[in-house]
Amino acid sequence: MDMRQSAEDEAFRETVQAYFREEYPRDIIAKLANGQTLKKSDMVASEQALSARGWLAPGWPAEYGGPGWTITQRFIFDEELERAGAPNVSPMGLLYVAPVIYTFGTPEQKDRWLGDILSARTFWAQGYSEPEAGSDLASLRTRAVLDGDHYIVDGEKIWTSDAHYADWIFCLVRTEDAPRKQDGITFLCIDMATPGVEVVPIITIDGGHHLNRVVFDNVRVPVENRIGDEGKGWTYARHLLSYERTSYAHVAAKRRQIEDMKRLLADAPWAEGDAGQQDDVRHRLAAVEVQLDALEMTVLRALAPLAAGQAPGDEASIIKIAATETAQAITELFVELAGLHALPKFPDRSGPDWRAGLEAIPAFAAPATAAYFLARAQTIYGGATEIQKNIIARQLGL
Ligand SMILES: Cc1cc2nc3c(=O)[nH]c(=O)nc-3n(C[C@H](O)[C@H](O)[C@H](O)COP(=O)(O)OP(=O)(O)OC[C@H]3O[C@@H](n4cnc5c(N)ncnc54)[C@H](O)[C@@H]3O)c2cc1C
Repeated sequence: MDMRQSAEDEAFRETVQAYFREEYPRDIIAKLANGQTLKKSDMVASEQALSARGWLAPGWPAEYGGPGWTITQRFIFDEELERAGAPNVSPMGLLYVAPVIYTFGTPEQKDRWLGDILSARTFWAQGYSEPEAGSDLASLRTRAVLDGDHYIVDGEKIWTSDAHYADWIFCLVRTEDAPRKQDGITFLCIDMATPGVEVVPIITIDGGHHLNRVVFDNVRVPVENRIGDEGKGWTYARHLLSYERTSYAHVAAKRRQIEDMKRLLADAPWAEGDAGQQDDVRHRLAAVEVQLDALEMTVLRALAPLAAGQAPGDEASIIKIAATETAQAITELFVELAGLHALPKFPDRSGPDWRAGLEAIPAFAAPATAAYFLARAQTIYGGATEIQKNIIARQLGL
């Protein structure tokens, strides 16, 4: 597809830039720039600001409240949001479940859920993985048994991102033991306030609370919360995953990180005689930048089916691998730069007041280390790299 930008696209870019400069909440951008993590109230404020402008769901069809942008405008918007240093939206409602609801849901379900997602009144979680069903997702055992006009749900989901923030969770549940395990799976939307739903925190290696176990004990879910046909959940789940895997690119945010790294590298307090180390870091930074250029081209190529109104194809797997490996390479370099900056300032520990010297260590070092640890998960969630490679190999007929 032709990605050259027209005069209208340039004017659109300026409108978006002006919005993030003048209207979007400055305190949220300032918090992120200061290395702070955002709370749910910050995410709500961010998403309600975008919603008030009609810009919260660029990918949704106009009939459901999308802004009716071209694919180029959507690309420009994502780029400018990240360039401005604003947070990406919480994806589970807006990017993952919404396309399933507007593609496969009933008119009542669309009325009931899409408006609340679009106005940032409700947040969602994704209940796919279970303790014995991650890569092999179709082995899931959370069971839903029909009882009149309700399903009774029992089981456990794990690694559920932001379930502690969520009002709703979309779940894959087993309604039948079919010979082919992908059959007999049903897609259910569950109100997190339903009696019997328990959220148990999991603290990750970066020290943060992002993940949870979600336990369902005798949870009554109305049948009208089922998306599509009973037993056909696998089809809807795959549709959702193609949107999920395409959403990981975040090219402009990575570009910003690389620009930050160039500044840090220029300011690094090199010791005498370490030219070899300097060359090594510069070489690796250049390699990451080339990797990012390749990712950007791949994303642009993958936009073509979206422009034609189709769901992303298996190229989503290529983007998933390229995006997450680039993210990890960037976080590795940040940690190395933190070392370069911090080591010369690391205090002499022979005196009792050695901790005073720690204040001289640059502020970016601790968040960089936390980001490095958290980014290890990127090649696992949304389907591990090995699983993406299996999908690509199948596509190539290998
Ligand atoms: C930070 C984070 C956030 C997450 N958020 C969510 C969420 O919100 N909702 C949700 O439902 N899930 C979520 N997950 C779960 C995630 O999708 C799973 O962790 C992932 O699918 C891998 O499953 P697993 O952990 O069971 O590992 P396993 O499937 O046990 O895999 C272990 C290893 O074996 C490899 N492997 C497995 N099968 C194959 C195969 N066939 N061929 C080659 N190699 C194979 C894998 O690549 C991996 O290296 C999250 C995970 C993390 C880490």
